[in-house]
Amino acid sequence: MTGFKADDIAKVCLEKFKSLPKNGKPENGKQWTVLAAFVQENQNEDQETMLKVVSLATGTTCIGSSQMDPTGKILHDCHAEVLARRAFTRYLFWEISKIQTSNNPSIFVHSEENKCLKLKEGISFHFYTSQTPCGDASIFPIKTQNFQKDSSFIVKKRAGTDDGSPCLKHRRLENLDDNFSGGLSYASENDLNRTGAKSVPGETADKLGEGLDYHEVGVLRIKPGRGIPTNSMSCSDKMLKWNLVGCQGSIISIVLNQPIYLKSIVIGKCTSNFQALQRALANRFDISGCENELKDSTFRHNRPEILLSGLEFEFSKPVSSDSLLKPCGSSFVWCDVLPCSCEVVAKNGYRLGAVKKTQGLPQSVCRVSRYSMFEQFTKVLQDLKMKNFATNVETELLPEMDYSQMKALSKCYLSTWKVLRNNCLENWLQHDRSLDNFTLDK
Ligand SMILES: [Zn+2]
Repeated sequence: MTGFKADDIAKVCLEKFKSLPKNGKPENGKQWTVLAAFVQENQNEDQETMLKVVSLATGTTCIGSSQMDPTGKILHDCHAEVLARRAFTRYLFWEISKIQTSNNPSIFVHSEENKCLKLKEGISFHFYTSQTPCGDASIFPIKTQNFQKDSSFIVKKRAGTDDGSPCLKHRRLENLDDNFSGGLSYASENDLNRTGAKSVPGETADKLGEGLDYHEVGVLRIKPGRGIPTNSMSCSDKMLKWNLVGCQGSIISIVLNQPIYLKSIVIGKCTSNFQALQRALANRFDISGCENELKDSTFRHNRPEILLSGLEFEFSKPVSSDSLLKPCGSSFVWCDVLPCSCEVVAKNGYRLGAVKKTQGLPQSVCRVSRYSMFEQFTKVLQDLKMKNFATNVETELLPEMDYSQMKALSKCYLSTWKVLRNNCLENWLQHDRSLDNFTLDK
């Protein structure tokens, strides 16, 4: 159990958002968006704890599969949760770079064997989002105005558990449907809260029937896009991945002794459901089948506390479908680094304000894009003189590498993810490998 309550964590995120510049934030009374953030908890030797927001982002857009970019300079997925995690990675780069300077304490220290870095004792992380993540977490029973008592739903779903349908193979938790229905209390619900995220090819497709028969639960889903379909997994799926291989991403795994897992996930005041969140973000898959293959790894199945806050984000999506508020097209990204902690991403995945002529040039590329993160991490490794690290790659060779070669250095991360994909997440949509073959501009 974390010592902090949901509202404590939500409050620091909302206050941080308020304190940041207006550019890129939604227009008051006209637009809505989603806010997400990573919060660091520091516990000192006297067991005193404090919270600090370390990255934060807003956003609801995701560009279509036909616009995928092989240069790494365009941000594809601009949902707040995903951007906040990218900004969190940038914060981790910054903290790693501080390890060389004694007057600026870092959250990392060298491990005992001096072969990699580890988080200092007493540091942990929470995640906040103002709205239920898209995808599986958004599917739960609700009561509509045309409510009629209907208990057939539970009977039907339980029967489904035994019908051998591909969605409920051994890899899924046997009590998935119990998690979903949450017991008899849901017998009075007659409709489902819906998600725009469609199931991934290979997973069981939604029935699209009436009321409770609309969606299939527990399946992997593709993020909804406006217009052209996207190639990005839903936020529920990406967050489930954080609970398996950590939030630090592949390249930082090269220098860390173990993954960074979340202590809690806090959902702001919105239409949400505790059981659906638990199912979607942590409990959907049973990885016990691959425990043997993972026994020597530092990766585990993390089950963060799910906390619901009563505090509402001022620019939340309106509940009423009659509302005239529109989603804000741009995304705001901030992380606790110096300099240039804030930036605004336009709908096209470049920095807001970048004109056609400058697209692809450094001034148009966001610092949380894959290209820029690759550039920053190369510098971090060069500064660390990483010969000591497990990779054994000569520092001089780093700028010659392409992004896929850099990612390939994170051997444990990649092999763990491969085991998980082969055993539990075989329909996970992998992006085209050719999108990772970019190098840094000379
Ligand atoms: Zn999302």
